[in-house]
Amino acid sequence: MKNGSSPPFVGVDIYDDDEPTPPVPVDHDRIKRAVREILLAIGEDPDREGLLDTPDRVARMYAEVFQGLHQDPSVHLKKVFTQKYDELVLVKDIRFDSFCEHHLLPFSGIAHVAYIPNGRVVGLSKIPRIIDVLSRRPQIQERLTEEIADLMMHELDAKGVAVVMEASHSCMTIRGVHKPGSTLVTSAMRGICKDRMATRSEVLALIGIK
Ligand SMILES: [Zn+2]
Repeated sequence: MKNGSSPPFVGVDIYDDDEPTPPVPVDHDRIKRAVREILLAIGEDPDREGLLDTPDRVARMYAEVFQGLHQDPSVHLKKVFTQKYDELVLVKDIRFDSFCEHHLLPFSGIAHVAYIPNGRVVGLSKIPRIIDVLSRRPQIQERLTEEIADLMMHELDAKGVAVVMEASHSCMTIRGVHKPGSTLVTSAMRGICKDRMATRSEVLALIGIK
């Protein structure tokens, strides 16, 4: 992170350091007031010692986990390399964390992203970066999966894209149906990954899904 005046956050800059960190336009005081209201509403005393700094902590956490709302994922796919390679490129087991927009509870898992270039390839660190931007928003996994696939197709003009995501949703494990251990698997296939049976099977075999 080159810009020393930006608010601190973790998890974004582990891939490379050539991306500037944008400011995070979050209304901090408004979140603090809202969290204090929630604490009062559940019957807590927001002025007891253990909770005094909680509204501020939650505000800073939301600024971090929802920073993707104010970022454009496509900037990470602008720098491409011309390469005469038209076989499958697959990045497996990319860890991601997001927040379900229905409960504002986290869901976490891994993503597998494959694409078949059309003369243009992208640095591999860029794929985790676009996942970071799109997952740091209130999301549903189905839409997140499609957004990654559509962005890759559009920005790289790829011949095909396949995205498979597997995640555990805390809104299913700590509340509601209480089913820890269950995972939600979503996939989005585009181009020849969708239309050509052989390509589709190859992608799914490499990812390890039958
Ligand atoms: Zn939920």
